[in-house]
This record gives sequence, C-alpha cells and structure tokens, in this order.
Amino acid sequence: MASEKAPIPLGSNFIRAIVEKDLDQGLYQSRKWAGSPGDAAHHAAGQVDQAKLRTRFPPEPNGYLHIGHAKSIFLNFGLARDYAGVCHLRFDDTNPEKESQEYVDSITDAVKWLGFDWQTKLGQHLYFASNYFDFMYRAAESLIERGHAYVDSQTADEMRLNRGSLTEAGKNSPWRDRTVAENLALFRAMRDGQHADGSLVLRAKIDMASPNINFRDPAIYRVRRAHHHNTGDKWCIYPMYTFAHPIEDALEQITHSICTLEFEDQRPFYDWLLHHLAEAGLLAQPLPKQYEFARLNLTYVVLSKRKLIQLVEEKHVSGWDDPRLPTLAGARRRGYTAEGFKLFADRIGVSKADSWIDYSTLEDCMREVLNESAERRIAVLDPIKLVIDNYPVGQVEDCFAPNHPLKPELAKRVVPLSRELWIEREDFMEEPSKGFFRLVPDGLVRLRYGYVVKCTGFEKDATGNVTVVHCEYLPDTKSGTPGSDSVKVKGNIHWVSVQHAYECEVRLYDRLFKEAHPGEGDTDFLTELNSDSVSLIRAQLEPSLKDAPLEARFQFERHGYFIADIKDSVVGQPVFNRTVTLRDAWQK
Ligand code: ATP
Ligand code: MG
Repeated sequence: MASEKAPIPLGSNFIRAIVEKDLDQGLYQSRKWAGSPGDAAHHAAGQVDQAKLRTRFPPEPNGYLHIGHAKSIFLNFGLARDYAGVCHLRFDDTNPEKESQEYVDSITDAVKWLGFDWQTKLGQHLYFASNYFDFMYRAAESLIERGHAYVDSQTADEMRLNRGSLTEAGKNSPWRDRTVAENLALFRAMRDGQHADGSLVLRAKIDMASPNINFRDPAIYRVRRAHHHNTGDKWCIYPMYTFAHPIEDALEQITHSICTLEFEDQRPFYDWLLHHLAEAGLLAQPLPKQYEFARLNLTYVVLSKRKLIQLVEEKHVSGWDDPRLPTLAGARRRGYTAEGFKLFADRIGVSKADSWIDYSTLEDCMREVLNESAERRIAVLDPIKLVIDNYPVGQVEDCFAPNHPLKPELAKRVVPLSRELWIEREDFMEEPSKGFFRLVPDGLVRLRYGYVVKCTGFEKDATGNVTVVHCEYLPDTKSGTPGSDSVKVKGNIHWVSVQHAYECEVRLYDRLFKEAHPGEGDTDFLTELNSDSVSLIRAQLEPSLKDAPLEARFQFERHGYFIADIKDSVVGQPVFNRTVTLRDAWQK
C-alpha cells in the first residue's frame, strides 16, 4: 500500500522508480559480465555480474563538458552509486572528425572534479567506443547475411527525396533487393577502400512506409576517409551514431541507457537492432533498454557544444575554461563547487517535461554551499583612503575577525589596524541620501572589528572626487572590549590597513549573455553577448589573502564569494575571481 511506503527520498525521479522496479523484479539478477565489454560468447563465459545495474555516461570527445552534461553525470553516476551498480565513462568516439585527446583529458578531469570515478571496487570502467569497430563491422555483416541490411547506391539527394515526409510514405530504393552475396561483396569493397567517400551507404532494411522516419531504412555505415585518433587509418568506413550507440551499450552490458528526449524517436530502432543482433547470437541477453529525460536548458548561457566551440574559436572568450563559460572547466575557475552542482542537480530533478531553469537557481545553489563552507575575509574593491588623525603614527594593533560567523570553531584571525586605512568609496557620502548609515561628515560609524570613528573632514581632487576622508577614533570603543557598546552607531564599514594591504587584480564576472534565451528566434546568439561580462579591478585585500592557496574560496564580506584563480595566480600572489555576489542583482 502506497501509504505504508517510506517517504520518497530527495532526488527521487521517474528513472529511479523504473530502476527500483526492475531490481525488485530481479530483471538483471542473472546477467553475466566477463570483466570487460564483449559479445554474447564473451559474457557467457563470465560470472554473474556483481554490479546490480550498469549505466553509462557517453560523451563524444569533441568539446568540453558543460553544465548540461553535469545533469547527466549526476543522474548516471548517481544511480550506480545508490543502487550498487557501476557507471561506465564511455568516449563515444566513432566519428573520426573533431575528436581529440585534449577533449578526452578535459572530460575525465571534469567527471572526477564532480566527485565521480569509473575506477571502483568492481573494476575500472573507462571505455572507448572505437575499440568496438571490429564488432560493429561483424554486426553489419550479420545483418546483411540475414537480409536485414543492404548497400544503397543512390546519391544523397535521391535518398533524401525518397525518404518521404511526415505525411507521405517513402519510396523503396531501386537497390533494396540486392542479393545477400551482392551486398556482402559491396560492403567488403567499401571497407577495402574501393569506393569513393559518400558513394555507397549500408542501410538497415526495415520499412520505407513507417510513420517513424527513423525506421525508413536508416543508414548504418558510410564511406569516409578520415584519420581516427585511436584507430588511425585502419578504417575508411565508419558506423553511424544510431547504429553504434546501441551496440556500445550492449557490449558493455548496460542495463539502463539514459539519454535526452530528442532520442525518443530512435528508441524503436535501438530495440530493432539489438533484437536482430541478439537473435543472431551476437549479443548477450537481457538487452539494454533506453530511457529518455529532458535535457537541461539554462537561461543566459548556451549549452550546445557547437556554439561553445564558436565562442572559443572566434575568441569571444579567453578559452574553454573562461570563467564566464558554462563549461565545467569554466565553472570551476569561476569558483563554482561540485557540491553546489550536486545541490543543483537534486533541486532541478529529472523529468520528461522540457523546461528552462533560471540561471539564478544555479547561483543560489552555489551561494548556499559557499555560505556554509567559505571563510570570511575583508577586501576593499574600490578604495579611498581613511586617515585616523588622532591615531599615533607608526602604531599597529591587532583586531580579531571571525573566520566564519556560523562556525566559531574556525576561530578568529588577526587583522592589523594602523593610522591609514582603505575603505570603500561608496561607504562615504558627502551629502548622504536617506537611510545611508555609513560614513558622513561629522557622523559616527564603526570600523568593523575595530573602533568607532567620527568623520572630521575630507579632501577632493581637481575634478571633485573625494580622495581622502579624515576621522578620529574613540579609544574606548574597540570591538570585543567592555566599552565597545558605550557608543551606539547605526553603521559598520570594512577596511584594510594601507601599510599591510595586499593589492591585486580581482575579476568581477557577470552573465555572458544579456538575453535569457540567447539566439532564440532568428537572432544570432553572438549579438546577444553581454559586453560588460567582466571587469578587471585593482583591489586592496587584507594581508592574509596574499597566502591564499590556489582555488581557495572565500566570502569577501559584503561583496560575494571569490576564488584564487587556478590559472593566473602565482604562489604568494593570487588573483581572485568573483564567483557570485551575495544577492542576485538580476532578479526583478
Ligand atoms: P551537444 O548537442 O551540445 O553537442 P551532446 O548531447 O551531443 O551535446 P554528448 O557528448 O553526446 O553531447 O553528451 C553526452 C551525454 O550528455 C549524452 O548522454 C547527453 O544526453 C548528455 N547531455 C548533453 N547535453 C545535455 C543537457 N543539456 N542536459 C542533460 N544532459 C545532456
Ligand atoms: Mg551527442
């Protein structure tokens, strides 16, 4: 009875429900696994699989992973983790063009950074689809031998014309009834390099009148003379994605093959193909099954490798790891955390309904995680000088600032106070607006973690900008001393001692696009780039930040969360990237 069931755990979704049902019914209980991918005979000689289920994350190594991929990684690796299974990291490298080692390396880095591993106590599960080319070729010959595939000599244009439309059935190719012997000979000649690129294709023989266009004799092998990063020049024919992918899943004994909704129409062919190959004795049962979920669409960014490649190649950004890009490499430099992505994945869930997630949802997740984990520091981003005229020249004293207001166990650190300080330009107003409680002529304010001061005057340059503010401190009011409450003030400002400050570059990032849905309609997404997506400033930071390790994250009080940039920092001279402000400035 439903009412007696345990409450639905956080992160539950329809795919988890399917997995739980399958496991309950013991669907995969006696499935075998020979320790490596392979055909039916290979697995038959193996043991009952100790992994209760197998999922896979199958990126094509033709670009860097983005935030959308993170959703798929949390889903696939998360299922394996939670249901005693394994998740394979599989490079879907069956397309010889556009793939490279740089992309392979960036993908393995990103998966690890998110906290997952393909190396488990049940073995190591990093695979390359190109290692299955021999089997795929054998599978194609098997289809030909059983009358399920034929070599077509139509031109690409003829094939397109004869495919029909959504309302019209297609027409059979004049080459559809070639004999098995003829097809085999032609296919082997294709493999042996006797036919020009694009001149012949091998097609599955299914049904040119099917209402599902993917069922109208889909192409499964094409002639393409291209060097492959793994197999070199061994092949001049390459399998099509729709043929390769189900086979990869089956050889790897994947139980639940999870993909995005646009592949829903491919599912009948997925099943058709695996059924015929299993019937021929080539693939082990039970066969994998495909399930579809809605891809992540996120406002103010583009999550398409093609568009990301364009941004990088046309130098609209500094590289794949530009902190403004939604790549995982960029997000990492920006200061986003793996825990923040996990929270985000849990919060957006997994469903079959396509929708847009607002970018602020992601930022909120990062804020929540960083608020918990990041130590506080003081930074003056737009400095003007404050001189405490009654403070002795050359004197320095320690003030104590808590490292984390919610975690007293993280103790306090020393911030030195002296006669000249940096404060924020916006913390002084000559003619204060209503509700301004910071420094004003003749007003009182607390120097955070220090004394109460009274403003006594200010200096301006020739153009009227305030350059120096003068004040006097009230000696009995130091924070943490018994007299600190003797004078009540409404405002509280942060500061850094001029003689101790660490001056460095800080990069303030904003959204890469001005529009929520870049490139929507007929607009070119490039015209919607935000020209103010980064500003570089020189800031004055408290001295302890000079020793910040690479990738250390902090909250700069009042300014947001920042990270010591992993790429441009040198030891003892970090530069900082703003990850996210304390509050959302875009929300209307
Ligand atoms: P693109 O269309 O941008 O090239 P892709 O989907 O072709 O991306 P792959 O390398 O094939 O990129 O993706 C690997 C896996 O990541 C696939 O299983 C795919 O379903 C998943 N994936 C890609 N983009 C998203 C997204 N926006 N949301 C969720 N999953 C995604
Ligand atoms: Mg793809």
